[in-house]
Amino acid sequence: MTTGKKTPDAGRLDRVVAEARRAAAGREKGYREQALKLYPWVCGRCAREFTHANLQLLEVHHRDSNHDNNPPDGSNWELLCTYCHEAEHRKVLDHDGRGGDQAGGERDSPATYRPFEKLGTLLKQKPGEPEKS
Ligand SMILES: [Zn+2]
Ligand SMILES: [Zn+2]
Repeated sequence: MTTGKKTPDAGRLDRVVAEARRAAAGREKGYREQALKLYPWVCGRCAREFTHANLQLLEVHHRDSNHDNNPPDGSNWELLCTYCHEAEHRKVLDHDGRGGDQAGGERDSPATYRPFEKLGTLLKQKPGEPEKS
């Protein structure tokens, strides 16, 4: 993001970060390219459409959360915009991470973003009315 001049000191850290990024990007690039060939450039949640101009906002989500599970038919992939992708992982965290405490809700306002298709679940769970005990 920042493209400022690098001091020698910062350069060392930058190099480490850059290498880590490259490794991750290289691994990700394979399935991302495949997924982008397989699927239309549309977010699977909010149906936002993407072009080359904003394609970096379209991310590949693994349906089973296993990034090593990359079947060539794309059955484990889903293209999501970065916002829906984040929401999707937040949802997973709600269940699997952080103790999966359903009555919580004191995380950084996960309720501020609500794709329409989640309305049904939201109505059932009523996250807008946190129970304070
Ligand atoms: Zn989206
Ligand atoms: Zn994902």
